[in-house]
Amino acid sequence: MPRLLLVEDEPAIAEGLTITLEAEGYQIDWVQDGTSAIGAWERTRPDLILLDLMLPGMSGTEVCRTIRGRSDVPIIMVTARDEEVDRVVGLELGADDYLTKPFSTRELVARIKAVLRRAPIVDVMDLDAPTEAMGVRLDRARHEVHVDGDAIDLPPKEFSLLAELMESAGRVLSRQHLINEVWGVDYVGDTKTLDVHIRRLRTRIEQDPQEPQRIQTVRGVGYRFADQ
Ligand code: CA
Repeated sequence: MPRLLLVEDEPAIAEGLTITLEAEGYQIDWVQDGTSAIGAWERTRPDLILLDLMLPGMSGTEVCRTIRGRSDVPIIMVTARDEEVDRVVGLELGADDYLTKPFSTRELVARIKAVLRRAPIVDVMDLDAPTEAMGVRLDRARHEVHVDGDAIDLPPKEFSLLAELMESAGRVLSRQHLINEVWGVDYVGDTKTLDVHIRRLRTRIEQDPQEPQRIQTVRGVGYRFADQ
């Protein structure tokens, strides 16, 4: 059963959507403001977020930007009629789709299905196909890594970390995203652990770990695996 996070400050609308979507076979978690949305996203790991733009406190665009910096979870933005400016902003912020109130149940469900259908395809491809960049080849299915043609052994956490980075080669991944993906969202230890693992990885896959070419540090944000 797909799990949806509904971010909507108007209880009457939220209640109506919850009833409708539950009848369609979705599991709904509802929050009323942006700050709660971030917390609920981290806690429930929804398959999709239905995000109202006009929220008290932290706005929908801010929520979208924050979550998109850390995750590719599908986001459908919802807003009142005639907020065209927000439509542009929403899509620039990385929302997957956009709905204007009032919308029909049929339209909403069709959009949700379309966005969910697009999302898992990427995951399936990620799992099946080996990833290759900058002379490093990583095969999740076989649990193998080759650097410039030579097989190397990696401990499980370093393997997962390298896989996360390589499967998003060219993109910056935030520290929190990497910690969530490799150590789990409930990880409460020191985030220095991430730096220690990056350092170890570099000694294994970089020609000069002091001048890393493959795993790059993006100061204040996180790390990126170079794609060229
Ligand atoms: Ca609202």
